[in-house]
Amino acid sequence: MKIVTVVGARPQFIKAAAGSRQIRKEHTEILVHTGQHFDDNMSAVFFREMGIPAPDYNLGISGGSHAQMTAGMLTGIEEILQKEKPDALLVYGDTNSTLAAGLAAVKIHIPVIHVEAGNRLGTLDNPEEINRITTDHLSTLDFCATQDALENLKREGLGERSYCVGNIMYDSFLHFKDKPWDEPNILDFDGNKVTVPSEYYFMTCHRQENTYSDEPLTQILLAMNSLDAKTVYAVHPRNHDRAKRICEAQGLGNIILTQPVGYSDSVHLITHAKKIVTDSGGLQCEAFYAGVQCVFILDFVVWPETMVDNRNQLAKADKNDILEKLSAQQHIDPSYQPFGDGHAAEKICEIIREKF
Ligand code: UDP
Repeated sequence: MKIVTVVGARPQFIKAAAGSRQIRKEHTEILVHTGQHFDDNMSAVFFREMGIPAPDYNLGISGGSHAQMTAGMLTGIEEILQKEKPDALLVYGDTNSTLAAGLAAVKIHIPVIHVEAGNRLGTLDNPEEINRITTDHLSTLDFCATQDALENLKREGLGERSYCVGNIMYDSFLHFKDKPWDEPNILDFDGNKVTVPSEYYFMTCHRQENTYSDEPLTQILLAMNSLDAKTVYAVHPRNHDRAKRICEAQGLGNIILTQPVGYSDSVHLITHAKKIVTDSGGLQCEAFYAGVQCVFILDFVVWPETMVDNRNQLAKADKNDILEKLSAQQHIDPSYQPFGDGHAAEKICEIIREKF
């Protein structure tokens, strides 16, 4: 088969690393990068270090409103699909790139395969929820990361086209977890190498809800600064100035600000951390895979499977709430494996072979 895969944002590159490796064993894959994430440390580094083939097309579309971005991608992707005439289009997750690619394909009768389908937050206030629901419904095959997600799709009448295969991100995580961490490339804002302390907390925080003004991020950083070890905070480019300003103004000497790190460094920073504080959907799952306790700063649950035995707890962007949640002890039941066995990509390819 000829399959066009469309990616655009950091978590999609990480999923595509496992997906493309498997797809290319038996199919011809054309890779399209929409350009949503474009900095070297948000995009190119993942292609280099994860062995993702170079994109065949890069649309260079980033920024603007949701409508502007989606509209630009729609027309760009449609042109590519008309030229390449693939047998199917494959997309990951829930970004504007996912939605635009799915819509462009289905309208010209190209079957859509959606990986990481079926997740629901239950609110359309979350822009990704709209992308998720729409893409799930226009797809021919929906691959879910968990049984919960599959149940959501069954409830919406999509059971016949939906399969629970495990989380493809887990495939990538396992692939990198056992590689040696011998050459970390973690840089501070001035480009100097950071030496990671032997004991540290790891943090990422980039969602609009936590970074739209100084207040929530200040609360989170004040909590982290008061802990018994330093915090390594890998800062998303859009929060660079705010994070720096807050740390300087508050004199937060226990926070180590870094540029975004590559995937290998992210996996190892997660695996060796005392605990993790994040608002990232993907990173909370990786904390769970690594058995490292996580506090998730948001008002709603994203991966309900992780919210067991204090392994992942919701906290408000409030110093006291975060410290209280961090002080709890987690309990790990090793037999509880809601994200599959790390062979999602193989299962996806088997089902594609069967169904097409
Ligand atoms: N990640 C990374 N470098 C960083 C921060 C995160 O490689 O500096 C990885 C992280 O391990 C996870 C993914 O990026 O696999 C999460 O992406 P992001 O937080 O951008 O998206 P979300 O999970 O919120 O959709």
